[in-house]
Amino acid sequence: MLPTWIVVGTSLGYLLALFAVAHYADRMAKTGTRPQLISNPYVYSLSIAVYCTSWTYYGSVGRAATSGVGFLPIYLGPTLVFTAGWFVLRKILRICKAQRITSIADFIASRYGKSQLIAGVVTVVTVIVIIPYIALQLKAVVMSFGVVLAEDMGTETLGVGAYNIALLVTLVLAAFAVLFGTRHIEATEHHAGMVVAIAVESIVKLIAFLAVGAFVTYSVFDGFGDLFAKAAANPDIARLMTMDEAGTNWLTLVLLSMAAILCLPRQFQVTFVENTDENHLTRATWLFPLYLIAINLFVLPIAFGGRLLFSGTGIDADTYVLAFPLAAGSPALTLFVLLGGLSAAAAMVIVASIALSTMVCNDLVMPLLFRLFGRRLAGRSDLTSLLLGIRRAAIVAVLLLSYLYLAAVGETYHLATIGLVSFCGAAQLAPVMLFAIFWRGGTRNAAFAGLMAGFAIWLYTLLLPGFAKSGLLPESFIVNGPFSIALLKPYALFGLDWLDNISHSLFWSMVFNVGAFLAVALTERQSRIERIQATVFVEAFSQQVLSRVEGTTYPSRGRTSVENLRQLAARFVGEERTAEAFRTFARQQGVSSDNEIVADAGLMRMVERLVAGSIGAASARAAMASAVKAEQVSFDEIMEILDETSHVLEYSRQLEQKSHELEVASRELSAANAQLREADRLKDEFMSTVSHELRTPLTSIRSFSEILQSDPDMPVDQRSQFLGIIVSESERLTRLINQVLDLAKIESGRMQWRIQDIDVASIVREATASLKPIFERDGVRLNVAEPPSDLPPARADGDRLIQVLINLISNAEKFCPRPDGQVDVLVEHDGGMVRISVIDNGPGIPEADREAIFDKFYQVKDRQSGSGNPLGTGTGLGLAISERIISQFGGRIWVTDRADGASGSQFSFTVPLSAQGHARQG
Ligand code: ADP
Repeated sequence: MLPTWIVVGTSLGYLLALFAVAHYADRMAKTGTRPQLISNPYVYSLSIAVYCTSWTYYGSVGRAATSGVGFLPIYLGPTLVFTAGWFVLRKILRICKAQRITSIADFIASRYGKSQLIAGVVTVVTVIVIIPYIALQLKAVVMSFGVVLAEDMGTETLGVGAYNIALLVTLVLAAFAVLFGTRHIEATEHHAGMVVAIAVESIVKLIAFLAVGAFVTYSVFDGFGDLFAKAAANPDIARLMTMDEAGTNWLTLVLLSMAAILCLPRQFQVTFVENTDENHLTRATWLFPLYLIAINLFVLPIAFGGRLLFSGTGIDADTYVLAFPLAAGSPALTLFVLLGGLSAAAAMVIVASIALSTMVCNDLVMPLLFRLFGRRLAGRSDLTSLLLGIRRAAIVAVLLLSYLYLAAVGETYHLATIGLVSFCGAAQLAPVMLFAIFWRGGTRNAAFAGLMAGFAIWLYTLLLPGFAKSGLLPESFIVNGPFSIALLKPYALFGLDWLDNISHSLFWSMVFNVGAFLAVALTERQSRIERIQATVFVEAFSQQVLSRVEGTTYPSRGRTSVENLRQLAARFVGEERTAEAFRTFARQQGVSSDNEIVADAGLMRMVERLVAGSIGAASARAAMASAVKAEQVSFDEIMEILDETSHVLEYSRQLEQKSHELEVASRELSAANAQLREADRLKDEFMSTVSHELRTPLTSIRSFSEILQSDPDMPVDQRSQFLGIIVSESERLTRLINQVLDLAKIESGRMQWRIQDIDVASIVREATASLKPIFERDGVRLNVAEPPSDLPPARADGDRLIQVLINLISNAEKFCPRPDGQVDVLVEHDGGMVRISVIDNGPGIPEADREAIFDKFYQVKDRQSGSGNPLGTGTGLGLAISERIISQFGGRIWVTDRADGASGSQFSFTVPLSAQGHARQG
């Protein structure tokens, strides 16, 4: 349908256009024009979408066509990390900026003692892990071209011609990766052009995918409703809509993709190394998940539509995306979809190979060269062109290896499976990464052990069986295990045979990975540099830690020369950049020209960081060590100072915490003290009130006794009147003392409460019976309403309850008018409580006094004594005691106007029902 030259021409044209975009962006970055494009949160977020490769573009549909919603967890993981786990990203980002990290190998090595060994191991591991993944992209591109060019759509095998195309594609992509990625030398110098180009590619692949999705849904079918209805009518497809057809364990896939978004070298590159502004991350936390949702919108419609139309035609589900426009005879859409897939693949290949080449160069080749030809290299004044050459060669080598992998085993697996194998390998980096930023422990050897163990298990349980499947190893390796040892069967290690291959591999590799790491980390002492780096990583957000570590690194002022350091820097980053860095440094130091700089700790620190930006932390440390050693400065000395710093930091942290604890304690103490003083004041007040109250009746008793004593001839009726006063004052005294004692007992918690289930009606009867005589004496009517017959028992102390009732009823009686005084007692239900009210027709309680009367010694002023309450007979303690008793039972006491509006007061209180009473209530 489409002539070859148009397809090839358009594709090359598209790649060239992308390159033009990158070139343009690089120019702007260099000249500083339009900085808002170069450092832009949207560009940043879109560049992270390099996560969506041709695996997403073609493979998701393929996977959905065979396992329904099983394609989703691969996008769920990153979404979780970006939303719920953003603090992890932020911490890594902060560390990368502070340490000028150039790659994930650099990150891990830098944390575990700036170890070249670790950097090398991580590099080798990632290269082995990523090569199948790059091969997957090549395969997708070749397949898509095959489908479009050859009219025989969906051939499962790649013919000889296809391999030629594959090689061609590999070389073209290698050329682009070289062009994009190795124009500058300093790796932390952002690849602005590459990032912008990747962002553009993200847009293209998204629009292309949405276009074909919309085409299938609305043109081939009649919208979502129609498509899903038809799919549901087909039992084979309907099965896919349920979770049990979801295939490989969801949890595994979510975990794997969570690890992948952190650990895949290309994701590390775009998210952390290429980031220009920490705040852009905030935007990406919702934009990137949004992108993932958008690009997955049409996966199911295309997959189901494909199964409906192409089932039985032999068309591979991985190519449904192309098959639709081809079948519809639409060359323009076909071409567009092809470009979208090319975008997805090219973006991944370019970023991944650039990231890998940086690692291979910095962490494998350079250390090796230094070891072999150290002397010769040290003599060269400029190593930048050598570095560039190595990186370019590394890119080409990585891509050629991927091509070889494709040729060897590429046809055995579907796209998605190859991707998962890689994910599982990359996940081996996750434990050391997470320990790195959240745990102060861990050593170089621990990281080595963990990585090696995990990687070995991965190799054995996923990669080797892959070779066996494609015939490179005997098939019996899988079926019977090596040497027919069943326990070692790669898909059922140690007899674990009920997990799918990927989950199985993930499980065992993590057990061994984390196990080995911890086993070593917990038995070995950290060296100084390991401890220092642990502090710097774990405390990445503590300004104090960073500034102290930075401030006191190198002690060797005057022992090495500025010129020496300048040469060292120039060797790795070039003259121009070195001069610029030294000028900036001079400005920061506040000296006018860089001739006045001294070779102090700050300068050495700066140079190390500058060099690290080019060749990674581990190599930079080695380079500095050799430069400084030449000047007879002991590297150990440097380490010692650094170590001290981290010790001091640890102490100061502990001190800070201690002083904080002390502060809290002293605050608590002074609060307690204030409370005590207040209690003391209350006690004094109480004592003085009590003695005052006691004095009044005592005085009158005493004066009347004296009169009686001094006048033996007093008339009999006067004498008996005086004696009457003495008796009633003594009674009052007794009451007062009893009440004070009661109150003191309650308040000090010494009161013995006998709380039990009691019958309220009989309590009321008992209390009123004892007061009958007073009512009869004063001619006041007492009216006790019959309590409800179904009244459940209450929980209280019966004697105390009688005390409260007597107090309220006798108060009521006291204040009633004479004659025509009337007191009513009412017993009612009130929710889970029983409520008892005592109502009188006395003067009532003024609004303002209604709370205060429950205070100790409070009596309402201007109470008319005419109502029958001889002023001064009360104590002001009765209500206070009642209130405390009732609240002890869990009830409440209060006073209101009479409900009928007549003059008088109504005292009410509540008592909880017993549990049994509750049950009866309910
Ligand atoms: P007292 O021994 O003085 O009665 P209480 O604590 O029982 O002490 O009462 C405090 C004050 O509340 C009383 O002095 C009185 O002024 C007022 N009071 C209590 N009950 C009534 C009532 N039924 N009618 C009017 N005033 C009352």
